[in-house]
Amino acid sequence: MTAFTVSALQETCLPISINGEYRQSAGPEIDCFDPTNGQVWCRISDCSDAEVDAAVRAAGDAMRNPAWRDITQSQRGALMLRLADILEENVERIAEIEVKDNGKLLREMRALAQALPVGLRYFAGMADKIEGTTIPVNKPDMLNFTVREPLGVIGVIIPWNSPLFMMIRAIAPALACGNSVVVKPSEHASAGAIAFAELMTQAGFPDGVFNLITGYGHSAGNALISHPGIAKIDFTGGPSTGRVIARNAAEQLTPASLELGGKSPHVVCDDADLDAAANGVVAGIFAAAGQTCVAGSRCFVQENVYDEVVEKIIEKTRAIKIGDPRSDDVQLGPLALWSQVEKVAEFVETARSQGATLAFGGGRPEGLGDGWYVEPTIFTDVTNDMHIAREEVFGPVLGILKFTDEDDLLTQANDSDFALASGIWTGNINRALRFMRRIEAGMVWINTYRSPSIMSPSGGFKDSGYGKHNGFAAIQEYSRIKTVVIDYSGAQQDAFVMRVTK
Ligand code: NDP
Repeated sequence: MTAFTVSALQETCLPISINGEYRQSAGPEIDCFDPTNGQVWCRISDCSDAEVDAAVRAAGDAMRNPAWRDITQSQRGALMLRLADILEENVERIAEIEVKDNGKLLREMRALAQALPVGLRYFAGMADKIEGTTIPVNKPDMLNFTVREPLGVIGVIIPWNSPLFMMIRAIAPALACGNSVVVKPSEHASAGAIAFAELMTQAGFPDGVFNLITGYGHSAGNALISHPGIAKIDFTGGPSTGRVIARNAAEQLTPASLELGGKSPHVVCDDADLDAAANGVVAGIFAAAGQTCVAGSRCFVQENVYDEVVEKIIEKTRAIKIGDPRSDDVQLGPLALWSQVEKVAEFVETARSQGATLAFGGGRPEGLGDGWYVEPTIFTDVTNDMHIAREEVFGPVLGILKFTDEDDLLTQANDSDFALASGIWTGNINRALRFMRRIEAGMVWINTYRSPSIMSPSGGFKDSGYGKHNGFAAIQEYSRIKTVVIDYSGAQQDAFVMRVTK
C-alpha cells in the first residue's frame, strides 16, 4: 500500500493520474529539488495539452457516470470518511514527502497532514446537508423552490508552500457537492499530491472523480485553465498568476476563486501583553520561513512601546534555531526555491537603499552546506511607502513600522494593495473590535496569529483575491442554485403575458 514513500520516489520520474490510473506522461521531465541540499531528488513531467485534455475529459465522464452522478449524498459523505481514515494512516508518509519537496518543518507539515482528515470529515458531514430553500413568491398555488447542484469539473491549481493542505481545502467541499476535479500542483512540489491520488482509488471513488496532472504553470496549468470542459478554477498562488486566471475565466465565462498573496498588518498596541505579542509577531513571520500567504510581514508597533517591543522581537529572533527541517528542535528551515533566496536578497538590498535599518539578519547562515537557508531578517524604521512594506516577500523578512493612535494605525494598515489577514495584540477588547470593524482584511486575529481552521471561511479582498475556502462558505463556492417553479392551480396560462410576480 505504501508504494509512495520518499525512498520509493527518489530519483524516479513520478507519474500522473488520469481516470483512476497512474500513467507515465510522455512530456519532458522537470527536476524537483530538495531545498536542504539543493540536489535533485525526483522528477515530474510537463504534461502535454493532450494529457490535460484526457484528464479533463475523464473528470467530465465521471460527472456523467451514474456511479458518481447518482449516488446519494450520504454515500458521497461515506466515501469521503473512508478517504479520511486512509489519509490518517498515511500522515507521516505524506508529511515526509512534502518536507522533501518544500523544506518546511516536518513538525509543521505533520500538523498540516493531521488536519487533512479533519477537513475531509468536516465536509463529509456536510454532503447530505446541502439544502435548497422554498420561496414564497406572492402567487397562490405556485410552488417555488431551489436545489443546489454540483458545478462540474473543478480545476484546482495549488502552490508549493502547503500543497496537500491547499488541495484538500479545495477538493473536500468540491467532492461533498458532487463535483469531479483535475488538480495541477506547483512544479516545485507535486510529489505529495501524486502520492495522494492512490488513496482516492483505495477509498473507492469512481474513476475520473480525481485526476492529477503535473507540469509548468505556463504549459500544463495554462492548458487546464483554458480547457472548455472546466466549470470553475480554484486557484491559490501569486497575484500576477491570479490576474492571468481571472482574465482567462472572463474570456470563458467560467467562475474562478482566487486566494492570492498578502502583506498582512500585525499590530502591537501599548496595552498588550508585550511578551506574548512579540512571540506572536516572531511566529507570525518566521514560521514556515515566511512562506505563507498570511505572514504578518508588516508589524505596526505603537510609538510609546516601539523600542521595547523591537528589542523583545530581536531577542526572540536571535534564539531561533536554523537547520534541517526534520529535526525537532529546529524552528527555521530552508526556503523552498533558490529563486526565493535570490528574491529575499533583492528585497534586503532595496530596503537598505530606501533607508530602512537592518536590525537583524539580512544574509545567509554559515555552516549549513548547500541548503537554501536565509537568516530571519528584521528591518526597523520602515515607512509604509517603502518597497518592503508594499510588496510580498514570501520569505523570513519582517518590517517594523510605528503608529501613534488608532486612526493613524488604520490609515497606514489599510494603505495596501493587499487585504488578506491581519492581527492585533491588545488588552482592550473595545479597541480590538474597533480595529476588526475598520481593517480591510479577510481575516482578523485578536491576541493570536496564523490560527486558521477548515471550519471557518478564509480568503482575502483587493489584490488578495476573491472567493472563500473553508467553512460552509466553501459549499456555496462549489455548488450552483437551480430554481424550480410548479404551478398547481390547474388554470390555463395566458401565452402572451409573462407570469411575473406582482
Ligand atoms: P504562482 O502564482 O507562481 O503559482 C501558483 C500555481 O499556479 C502553481 O501551481 C503554478 O505552476 C501555477 N501557474 C503559474 N502560471 C500559470 C498559468 N499561466 N496558468 C495556470 N497556472 C499557472 O505562485 P507560487 O507557486 O510562487 O506561490 C507563491 C504565491 O502564492 C505567493 O504570492 C503567496 O502569497 C500565494 N499563496 C497564497 C495563499 C493563500 O491562501 N492566499 C497560500 C499560499 C500561497 P508552476 O509552479 O508550475 O509555475
